[in-house]
Amino acid sequence: MKREKSEELFARALELMPGGVNSPVRAFKSVGMNPLFIKEAQGSKIYDVDGNEYIDYVCSWGPLILGHSHPQVIEAICQAAQRGTSYGAPCEGEIELAQLISEAIPSMERVRMVNSGTEATMSAIRLARAYTGRNKILKFEGCYHGHADAFLLKAGSGLLTAGVPSSPGVPEAVVQDTLVARYNDLDSVKKLFQEWGQEIAAVIVEPIAGNMGLVPGEPEFLQGLRSITEHNGSLLIFDEVISGFRLCYGGFQNFSNIIPDITTLGKIIGGGLPVGAYGGRKEIMEQIAPSGNVYQAGTLSGNPLAMAAGATTLKILKDTDWYDRLEVITYVLTNQLKTVFEEHELYYTINRLGSMFSIFFTEKNVDNYEAVMSCDTQKYAQFYQEVLKEGIYLPPAQFEVSFLSCVHDLEDVDKTIAAVNRALDRIV
Ligand SMILES: *Cc1c(COP(=O)(O)O)cnc(C)c1O
Repeated sequence: MKREKSEELFARALELMPGGVNSPVRAFKSVGMNPLFIKEAQGSKIYDVDGNEYIDYVCSWGPLILGHSHPQVIEAICQAAQRGTSYGAPCEGEIELAQLISEAIPSMERVRMVNSGTEATMSAIRLARAYTGRNKILKFEGCYHGHADAFLLKAGSGLLTAGVPSSPGVPEAVVQDTLVARYNDLDSVKKLFQEWGQEIAAVIVEPIAGNMGLVPGEPEFLQGLRSITEHNGSLLIFDEVISGFRLCYGGFQNFSNIIPDITTLGKIIGGGLPVGAYGGRKEIMEQIAPSGNVYQAGTLSGNPLAMAAGATTLKILKDTDWYDRLEVITYVLTNQLKTVFEEHELYYTINRLGSMFSIFFTEKNVDNYEAVMSCDTQKYAQFYQEVLKEGIYLPPAQFEVSFLSCVHDLEDVDKTIAAVNRALDRIV
């Protein structure tokens, strides 16, 4: 498999961009190699600049649930572009997407469009702080909510000690108001509420954790968060940037019937263009400018191309029951993966929910951050390089989720299983 052109482009990129990329995980550092440069993508396949074809299980990190270059989405973007790329004034597309979202996720009575998941979560906590008149927020170890300062911290040495910034440039003063609890561990949340209950503006959580590999939130845990926040006058924020429209037509909240006060979305609702959104109960959302005085704005927010791509994607998902198909095909894939691994005497844990899955290189049952951290990342890197040679493009890091799209088919599954089999033959 040739990689000369990718290597050449990466060398040039390194002269121009930090680490040669515009988002760190793309650099393939944790799998010990250089990234591929992609030239084109169609359906379930991506093609690099050296002419290699891969079955893609990254799907742009989640947005492309319809697969790459879906003809109707491309058509909608082209048609919108003919009418201008941005107006800086209201357009009907904003109403269309907001209505689709609000109908699918009824707790989002009012919706504000932004340009990324990061913007959605940082705006959501500003709103929660304003609405409650409190400063502290509580997040969970292993959950990712974008790169705003308030989220970039790791737990301190003890649960009740202050967290420490996980990135230089984040002031300690900023993270002092962020508390960190353990995912799927309600007791850790109760302890923090005992200490700071009256100061906590909001608990923010991924109801399905998708940024430490796939770790589903347990129903009792999420239900517990709902009652604790209600009891203490704090808001519950579900960060559904990944889970929104991924498991069903709506959010994880539609599935679980645990209803948050504020929901953040991104990824799928943009159909591959840069979009985020946050929304919630009318009386909370009406605090945002210009109906209220919580400031939040965006030059390109509600962009007509992005609205067209998002609305078209949601309409396609609404009109056909893709979710049954996604469930079956991903079940078949992960089941067969498990068998192939076992045939090589590797008893790794595979978590799957709908069309998301993670192969954890550990034999432990993975239901929290600690178990995730027991994975053998060296072995993952080795496995990664071998399956890539076989034309399978998995997320280039152990702690990321793999995604299937509506156009991944049984032929892709068969090819993937055969490829993994050959790769494991070489490794074991
Ligand atoms: C991807 C992601 C974000 C950040 O979204 P960006 O569009 O990358 O800023 C926030 N929260 C969750 C749960 C995500 O998966």
